[in-house]
Amino acid sequence: MQFSKLRLTGFKSFVDPTDLFISDGLTGVVGPNGCGKSNLLEALRWVMGENRPTSMRGSGMEDVIFAGAATRPARNFAEVSIHIDNSERLAPQGFNDADHLEIVRRITRDVGSAYKVNGKDVRARDVQMLFADASTGAHSPALVRQGQISELINAKPTARRRILEEAAGISGLYQRRHEAELKLKGAETNLTRVDDVIEQLA
Ligand code: ATP
Repeated sequence: MQFSKLRLTGFKSFVDPTDLFISDGLTGVVGPNGCGKSNLLEALRWVMGENRPTSMRGSGMEDVIFAGAATRPARNFAEVSIHIDNSERLAPQGFNDADHLEIVRRITRDVGSAYKVNGKDVRARDVQMLFADASTGAHSPALVRQGQISELINAKPTARRRILEEAAGISGLYQRRHEAELKLKGAETNLTRVDDVIEQLA
């Protein structure tokens, strides 16, 4: 499973549709200060399901929509798509029946985000799990923010352990465990209610 293209439309400074091709080997992005290099990395994180505006350097999620410039009006939506080459069929279960995956996230003002995988509507959770199972995602330590190295050096051991867990590909299991625990709690509550009803009937 390999990223092959990132397409941004109306995302931050990328008002017109812009493609970033990701070839084999190293892809470098160079440009003057403020030209949008970090915005590209944020677009990648966002399409993989990032939901914390602070990690997108904004105060609300709609801040990723092009806010307008002297000569261009603001946009009403932002869209990012990531194209994945899956010819080796390494995508996680449930998404592994096509040679090519296209994941699209679109945010519309006052409406919120919607996701699609190969044209089909999916939930944010499905996209987050897809990338977590592939040992990547919005919080992957492979995406290194400015200042993150010094944060890591000063981090507590438990925070550093997360990097090893990502590398071992088990971060998706935490999410599943959390969901299983919630279901278990729900079942326990239902059982208590059933006991109460039985007691009343007895
Ligand atoms: P540096 O090399 O200084 O780190 P950079 O190339 O990484 O810079 P970015 O930080 O990615 O640049 O881009 C910043 C630019 O994006 C700024 O010009 C800012 O005005 C613009 N920008 C950010 N959010 C929006 C938005 N919602 N609408 C329009 N432009 C935006």
